[in-house]
Order: sequence, then C-alpha cells, then structure tokens
Amino acid sequence: MLKPFVDPASIAVVGASRTPGKVGHDVVRNLLDAGYEGRIYPVNPKADEVLGLPCHAAVDRIEGEVELAVIAIPAQYVLDALDQCAHKGTRAVIVISAGFKESGEEGARLEEQLAEKCRREGIRCIGPNCLGVISPVTRLNASFGAAMPKPGNIAFFSQSGALGTAILDIAVGEDIGLSRFISYGNKADIDETDLIEALGEDDETDVILGYLESIDDGRKFMDVAARVTRNKPVVIFKSGRTSGGARAASSHTGSLAGADSAYSAAFRQCGVFRADTIEEFFDYARAFACRKLPANGKVAVVTNAGGPGIIATDAIESSRLTMAELSERTRRALAEHLPPQANIHNPVDVLGDAKADRYRLALEAVARDDGVASVLTILTPQTSTEVERTAVAVADAAAATDKPVLTSFMGSASVQEAWDILDRRSVPNFEQPDRAIGAMEAMLTYSEWRQAGRTDPPCYEFDEGTIRRVLDQAAANGQGTLGEREARDIAGACDIPLPQSIFAADEEAAAGAAAEIGYPVALKVSSGDILHKSDAGGVKVGLPHEAAVRVAFREVMASARDYKPDARLDGVLVQEMARPGREVIVGVKRDPQFGPLIMFGLGGIHVEVLKDVVFRVAPLGLEEARAMIGEIRSARILQAFRGEPAADVEALAECLTRVSQLAMQFPQLTECDLNPLVVYPEGQGLMAVDVRFALE
Ligand code: ADP
Ligand code: MG
Repeated sequence: MLKPFVDPASIAVVGASRTPGKVGHDVVRNLLDAGYEGRIYPVNPKADEVLGLPCHAAVDRIEGEVELAVIAIPAQYVLDALDQCAHKGTRAVIVISAGFKESGEEGARLEEQLAEKCRREGIRCIGPNCLGVISPVTRLNASFGAAMPKPGNIAFFSQSGALGTAILDIAVGEDIGLSRFISYGNKADIDETDLIEALGEDDETDVILGYLESIDDGRKFMDVAARVTRNKPVVIFKSGRTSGGARAASSHTGSLAGADSAYSAAFRQCGVFRADTIEEFFDYARAFACRKLPANGKVAVVTNAGGPGIIATDAIESSRLTMAELSERTRRALAEHLPPQANIHNPVDVLGDAKADRYRLALEAVARDDGVASVLTILTPQTSTEVERTAVAVADAAAATDKPVLTSFMGSASVQEAWDILDRRSVPNFEQPDRAIGAMEAMLTYSEWRQAGRTDPPCYEFDEGTIRRVLDQAAANGQGTLGEREARDIAGACDIPLPQSIFAADEEAAAGAAAEIGYPVALKVSSGDILHKSDAGGVKVGLPHEAAVRVAFREVMASARDYKPDARLDGVLVQEMARPGREVIVGVKRDPQFGPLIMFGLGGIHVEVLKDVVFRVAPLGLEEARAMIGEIRSARILQAFRGEPAADVEALAECLTRVSQLAMQFPQLTECDLNPLVVYPEGQGLMAVDVRFALE
C-alpha cells in the first residue's frame, strides 16, 4: 500500500499553481527542491507551465503513467479529479484540499462520496484535509510543509496537520532522521491502523510514531498493532487524556471509566507505547531508533561527576530498572585502568579529569559484564574533558556491543558537537540522565513485550439458557438495569459465588427468610430505581435476631421512601452475612470503539473516592488478569501482612476472566459492578455481595 505514496515513479499535482504561497505551487516547489527524480506533471487547465514544467489540462490527458496524484483544489472539484484519476488508472491519491468533514455537514457528505468513490474505483487515498507525505529516504516531498527532515529510520504519522508541522520542525531542529512523514488528516480512506500495518512492513522504518485524536475501529487497531509491535516499536501520542466533564453513569465502573481509559488499556495490551508529552515522544523514538534492546533491567552507569550519577541512580531506583552489581572481574579491570580515587562500583565514577580513553576502557569493561544489560554514560563538560573525542569513544564502544548504550552528555553549547557525533553514530543521547532512564525503562518494557508468550483467554461453561432468559425478559420489559434477583441469576449462571439471598416483599416474609438463612443476616432494599442502596439508608448488616430484622425492614423501607419518594420499592433482599474479607470491585463498561472494558480496583462504598482502579479491554487472559490485580496502587492490601494471609488472587483472576467472558458473549450488558466482591485468604475463594448490571 505504501509504495506508490512514498516511492512513486510519477506524480500529478492537480491544482498546480504559478502563484507562490498557494498550496498547488508549494507542492511542486517542494517536489523539485527535495530532488525527486521521477516525473512531475502539473495539472492546471489555465496554465502552460508551472516552475518550468509543462502543464496538463487534466490527469487523464497526461501521456504516460501517473502513479500518484496530489490533489490541491477546492473541495467541490475533488470528486471530478478523482474521476480523472480513475480513468487514468491512478490508484494512489493524496487529497490535501480542506472543506470536508472538518467544515460541517455538507463537507461530511462530500467526504462520504469521496470515500465511496475511492472504494468503488480501488483508489487508496490519504486525506483529505492533510499536509501530504514526505519521504526523506526517497527524497520525496509531496506536501506543502516547508521543512524536510534528514533521512532516518523513524516513521511519523499525524492526524493533525498543525501538530504534524510542529513535530516536523522539531525533527529538523533536533536533527532527528525520518523515513516517512505522513499527514493523514480526516482519514476518509487510509487510517492509523492501515498506516501502522503498512509501516510495519516498510523496510526503511524501524520505529513507528503516531499522533492521533481518535480511533474508529478499536478492535482492528488492537489486532494489527499487536502484530506489528512484535517486530517494531510503536509510540503513540494521543490527545484528550482528561475526560470531558461528568457523564451520567449507572454504575461505579461507568463513572470511573473516563473517556480515555479504553485507549490507555488498549495501547498497553497491544504493546503500543503511549507518550504523555512531546518530549517523551521523541525520547522514546530516539531510544528505539538505536535498534538494540536490553535483555533485562540491570543498568550500569559510567559518569565523570558524582551528582548526575546520583540523579541517574535515583531515577533507576524509582523505575522498574535496577542498578547492576558489577562482577569481581569487571571491578578488577576497572581498578587496573582507573585512578585509585575512582569508584569501581556502579555507578562507576571515572572522575572529573577523565579523558576519552578512560571512558572507553570503563565502558568496554562494564559492557562485557554478564550482569549488565544496558549502559548509561554520563558526561559533564569539565576543564580537561575531551567532549568530542569522548563521544567518538562512546560510539565505538556502543558499536562493539549488542547491549544498548545510552548517553547523557549534559550541558548545551560545549556539547553540541558531541551530540551530533552521537546522533550520527545512532547513540541515543538525552540532555538529562533521568530522561535517558525513562527511555531505558520503555526499552525494557518493550523487550519484555517481545519476549512474552501469548495465552488465550480461558473458556468457561456458563448456564447460557438462564442468562438469555433473564436478558430477553428484561429487554421485553424495556428495563435499563436489572433488578437484584435477575442480576444474581446472571452472576450465578457464570458460577460467581454469591451469598444465599431470599427476596421478601413484607415484614413477615423478611422474618421468615431470615430464619431460613440463619442469623446473622443482612437486609437490603430491593428497587430498580435506587442505584446505591447505602446512600438511601437501604442496607443493614449483622442483624442478630428476628426483632432486629423486623425493625430493620421498617427502617430500610422508610428511609428509601424518604430518599426517593417516587421510587418503586419491591421489598427487601434478606441475605446471608458474608464473612469479612478484603473488599474489591470488578466491573464492566462498554466502550464504543473498543467494546467491553474490564475494571478492577479497591472496592466497597468508597470506590469513587479512592479511584484506585485499572482497566483492560476484554477478552482477558488469566495472566493479564493477574497483572491487573498487581497494578492498583494499594495492591499490597492483597498480599500477606501483619499475620494476615495473602488474598486468593487466583480466585480473583478467575472471576475477572469470567466477567470478561460474560461481557464478550452478551453485548446487551453495557455495564456491570460486582461491588463489593469480598476476597478471602488463599484457597478460600471470594463472594460477590452486591451485583449490578445495566442494559442497552
Ligand atoms: P450498595 O453498594 O448499593 O450501597 P451493598 O449491597 O454493596 O449496597 O452494601 C453496602 C455495604 O454493606 C457493602 O459494601 C458491604 O460492606 C456491606 N454488605 C452488604 N451486604 C453484605 C453481606 N451480605 N455480608 C457482609 N457485608 C455486606
Ligand atoms: Mg455495593
């Protein structure tokens, strides 16, 4: 798919203009300036020539093949130009023109027609409303962006043209080499998933970067990205992390799943890195572009100054990386080459008067150590420091090992030259040691992702007949949420353990139910109109005898009535008391792009206050479920502490995968909360004390 866009034999520029500053002029100018070697055909019925090239009246009036057409004419004429392309046999077009979906309803209609025409004619289209395509490695600049970055192995695609220009400018300014730059605008045809797939197969590209605002088909994106990231790192900068205002939600999970939770979860599940800042975006790009990955997290630091060494050590300690323990042999080698005052333990201090050779020897020694997986070299420009020669020495040592060697040559004016040297030799350099460590941690994460095995989600036998019956009945009644009993029926059909419960419509029945269950019991108001029962004074726990149950019944009904006078109160649920345990929440929220999102977190009535939750896109394997459980901030609560045994994490992981399977099988279930889910010590399972479902 990519070839005609980045390496075409001939290009027609529709709307080529003689007037500098016009898009149709700048595209031709850029093509010429970049040194494109194929044929350029300006198309403009009102001109004879543009920039010395003869003009043509229409694409299908050009003699000879036209592999790519760049269209830069007012929106209303674009469909005609596409017809000419179809007639001519041109199968790749870049529509730079604006005035489509971004401009309102009429533009959106036009864009649909454009997409439809492309599909029908078998034309692949980038845009509309984009900057175009730049391919430094083939000396192609089919855009109206001015900056042409140097060739490199990083591809960058951007949904936003404006941000694309800014990033391009940074790449040029910081001398970052790009293989391809693709501004894909409104993505009427080619979208980010297509681009990731195509760049995944592009021999010129080792690292894929993208800026995007939205993904339409989340599932397809995940499938493709998971495949591509096996071979190449993908880093995405996505705007819109904060959710735009509060939304009405009928569950804890619904209110906690921000608009962006699905993106973050999906990205990590398919091995895509998410950069939070432009700085991070380029840091990751630079690190991955060196094409080496650490086998594990053990880092050696070599520095000529104590302070930056401590900064690096601190950053390592607060990351998933660790300071490598240098072997006896390495230390002996260091002692032999370094002055006696030097520190031969990690971080290795070669001292302020270190010249290039001392760096070289130290680096060779630590890189050879089996206990070291990556190296950070720090340099501060001191009086006798040989900045450039050290850069060469570091680059030589880096080239001689498979282990990633990152550098932080600190400073500005006096290290510029060294930065260029390191850059030319593909040694990732960072202005600050902690940023180098951030990038190194990303390299470790990526290395682990590539090594990790993939397991399919488990497949449980549910009582599907019951689930379907409950859901059909609820749909027939037009219910938006399931009642207490129906919700419990569904959970039970998935073999999720529940406390024994009996519904009671009046006080007599409640007393009878309590006697049947055995004391103590819990009593809860049963109403489809009351979302959070505790808020309505609708929950009483630990009721020890019949008299308490009778009082509780009256109180619960009265406070529920006060809380919501128009609520329909069915009665109460009398429930076996669950033994105390650790309270967690498991939930589901359906995302429009990615489908069911599974939530896990610290549960109980304070979920919204604590907000200690994590998300994954379903379906969920057991490994992924275990990872989720370990990821919440208060994960330690589930471990053994102060004489209390560890919680039954296996039962919890299983419960998460059961809920995930339920959500996958029954798309009508839009939201679900198991809260609290009481987890017992290892081997003793769990119990879903409160279950809630919302429907389409
Ligand atoms: P809601 O979330 O609608 O307020 P719950 O059924 O979750 O109502 O009850 C509120 C709290 O009461 C729970 O978080 C739990 O701590 C406690 N609780 C409820 N039912 C039981 C039970 N059967 N056994 C033990 N504790 C319970
Ligand atoms: Mg609850």
